[in-house]
Amino acid sequence: MELLQQKVKEDGVVIDGSILKVDAFLNHQIDARLMKEVGLEFYNHFKEKEITKVLTIEASGIAPAIMAALAFDVPCLFAKKAVPSTLTEAVHTTDIHSYTKNKTSHVVISQKFLTKSDNVLIIDDFLANGEAALGLYDLVTQAGANCAGVGIVIEKSFQQGAGRLREAGLDVLSLCQIASLQDNKVTLVGEES
Ligand code: 5GP
Repeated sequence: MELLQQKVKEDGVVIDGSILKVDAFLNHQIDARLMKEVGLEFYNHFKEKEITKVLTIEASGIAPAIMAALAFDVPCLFAKKAVPSTLTEAVHTTDIHSYTKNKTSHVVISQKFLTKSDNVLIIDDFLANGEAALGLYDLVTQAGANCAGVGIVIEKSFQQGAGRLREAGLDVLSLCQIASLQDNKVTLVGEES
């Protein structure tokens, strides 16, 4: 997705040769017009799959996920990283280790919002080692639902996540693929020398 690649190159800031900070358009300030296009890209790729629900994890997955949900005209469900006191009904839970925070969260969704009749599109902002996406896939499996695919805004292709998801048999679409962040420089897949 050219517009996104351009944003990543122009506004992305590399930290320690491994983390890409995209606070200018995705993780803090959100470029709503760009997110609308991101949602439409996911829709165009997965539109034949009769998606009934978009699933993501708070907080940064919500912006792209809600735009995709709008395009599919289905609800957007996000996994919570802490159990709120208002969540009194039965839940599905899984543990997700955060690559950037180096912390494991016990994430939950209410069972009533994901059922075996659902055909789910998982969305997240980044794919690094695949922990978040595989954790969300675990929640889909626990609910007895089907995972129709995984939509990622930015894939760090030099990490193992994409391979792990494909090994699990998942249909993965990444809108921007990063080959390297070495020397604090963004090199996209296809730009390698
Ligand atoms: P994974 O679970 O695939 O290892 O990592 C993906 C999750 O970690 C995403 O939900 C994202 O929030 C965070 N993440 C991983 N790598 C980066 C990165 O380079 N930049 C930012 N901003 N978040 C990242």
